[in-house]
Amino acid sequence: MNRSHALAALQEGPFRWDLLVIGGGATGLGVAVDAAARGLKTALVEQSDFAKGTSSRSTKLIHGGFRYLKQGNLALVRESLRERGLLLRNAPHLVHPLDFVVPCYHWWEAPYYGIGLKLYDWFAGELGLVPSGYLSRTDAVAALPNVNPAGLRGGIRYQDGQFDDARLALALAQTATNLGATVVNYVRLVALLKQDGRACGARVCDVESGREFDLHARVVINAAGPFTDAVRRMDDATAPPIIAASQGVHIVLPREFLGGHTALMVPRTEDGRVLFVIPWQDRVLVGTTDTPVAETPLEPRALATEITFLLEHAAQYLAKAPTKSDILSVTAGLRPLVKLPGANSTAALPRDHVVLVSPGGLVTITGGKWTTYRKMAADAVDRAMVIAGLPEKPCATEALRLAGPSQPSGEAGGSPLSVPSGSSAAPHRLHPGLSVTADDVLHAARHEMARTVEDVLARRSRCLLLDARAARAAAPAVAALLSQELGRDPVWEAEQITRFNELANNHIP
Ligand SMILES: Cc1cc2nc3c(=O)[nH]c(=O)nc-3n(C[C@H](O)[C@H](O)[C@H](O)COP(=O)(O)OP(=O)(O)OC[C@H]3O[C@@H](n4cnc5c(N)ncnc54)[C@H](O)[C@@H]3O)c2cc1C
Repeated sequence: MNRSHALAALQEGPFRWDLLVIGGGATGLGVAVDAAARGLKTALVEQSDFAKGTSSRSTKLIHGGFRYLKQGNLALVRESLRERGLLLRNAPHLVHPLDFVVPCYHWWEAPYYGIGLKLYDWFAGELGLVPSGYLSRTDAVAALPNVNPAGLRGGIRYQDGQFDDARLALALAQTATNLGATVVNYVRLVALLKQDGRACGARVCDVESGREFDLHARVVINAAGPFTDAVRRMDDATAPPIIAASQGVHIVLPREFLGGHTALMVPRTEDGRVLFVIPWQDRVLVGTTDTPVAETPLEPRALATEITFLLEHAAQYLAKAPTKSDILSVTAGLRPLVKLPGANSTAALPRDHVVLVSPGGLVTITGGKWTTYRKMAADAVDRAMVIAGLPEKPCATEALRLAGPSQPSGEAGGSPLSVPSGSSAAPHRLHPGLSVTADDVLHAARHEMARTVEDVLARRSRCLLLDARAARAAAPAVAALLSQELGRDPVWEAEQITRFNELANNHIP
């Protein structure tokens, strides 16, 4: 993927695109893949970097959502488990099965969660993973070496999928590009174009040059996640809001807090939330909170109360209680939940997706989860083709293998950018605590549309999430490499370092 080529293709492209997608998160990129796979002339614009929004801030699980069983949303669980199975088939290089244990401290937990997880296995049908089962206390401790042993009776073991969200987003961008779509980052929707009251394209702005231009399209798809309502209001200033954003926070701790390779899942904390403690990229990811918020900034910030909640609840289930000073990084994200009348807490709002068509023909796809992005895309494109008056063509993504991960040129067959290795002997590392190398930075700029220090350290690699202080220390080296590769000047380089420092400081509690 090359941004200059993609930007030129966007400007010089067909007089009229079949489909123009706004938003380059899981949802929009999924739509672009689906539309391109059906042979539609497809363009996608993302105002920032791919997955800059919610899609790089998830718990990184491809899962059925065990807790939705309790909410009685069986259709969502069934659909998610099917998508989990398809994704493991279509992207085995990006998604892998992960073992989980639900630790049981009360007599009723083993039968209660055991039956629930048997139902979960059953719903997955032939796309199921290793079946769930009961673990004795000894086996539960063997799987979770650093679980709190006091009062532990045993556990329930099951499997779900795990992935790197920003890298999967990039794989979708690459897949869409390979199928002929034009996807570009740092191009923002400024206004919708209308003809006879119908949405017929968009005025967009290349954020790097400040240049505005028009794109004509048979149909425009709004996949702007937490910003969905702002785009809807460009179409109809009186459109009522449909998004109730809910903030979720994760903290990252050193691997030793969990030990082993098995994740710990608590289906119900004392205040009724789910808690995950997950091994991820040689660290431990602890999440998540569910706090209704009124604002939807592109860079949300964790609240002190959210960090305290995660530390206190992790401490109940781990042998060694983590403290604030153990935290390597904190990240907040906004769930774009769809608001239905009558729901009084965001945890109770359904994670189902909706496709809406405005009187002006703007198609909005929102809600859902990373796990169901493919089904969301299929439903949105089905609907959009009718609106655009395009001849019917079936969805072609059920068995479509996803591209990537691309490899840095100097690292034939090597690991993806973000995996830190325990050894400090690897060559050209930009920081002893991170795996990212100079080759990685150049590769990200040349082949993965990385444009800023943040793109490299937050999403092409996951250094910012894995260790915000180390990422901050690596920023000057990344800025120098990018500046030379992209032909920038020293002012740009200095600005990039300042901006990244500010960002990294927000990830340090
Ligand atoms: C804390 C947390 C944990 C989660 N964990 C999981 C999980 O483990 N598994 C799972 O399946 N799901 C999970 N989810 C849900 C999942 O992450 C989201 O459903 C999904 O990422 C939403 O993707 P999206 O593309 O709709 O939104 P986004 O990723 O936010 O993408 C929308 C994009 O639109 C762009 N945009 C907005 N306005 C404009 C404009 N004017 N012009 C151009 N572009 C624009 C934004 O910049 C943004 O990149 C989690 C969510 C949260 C918050």
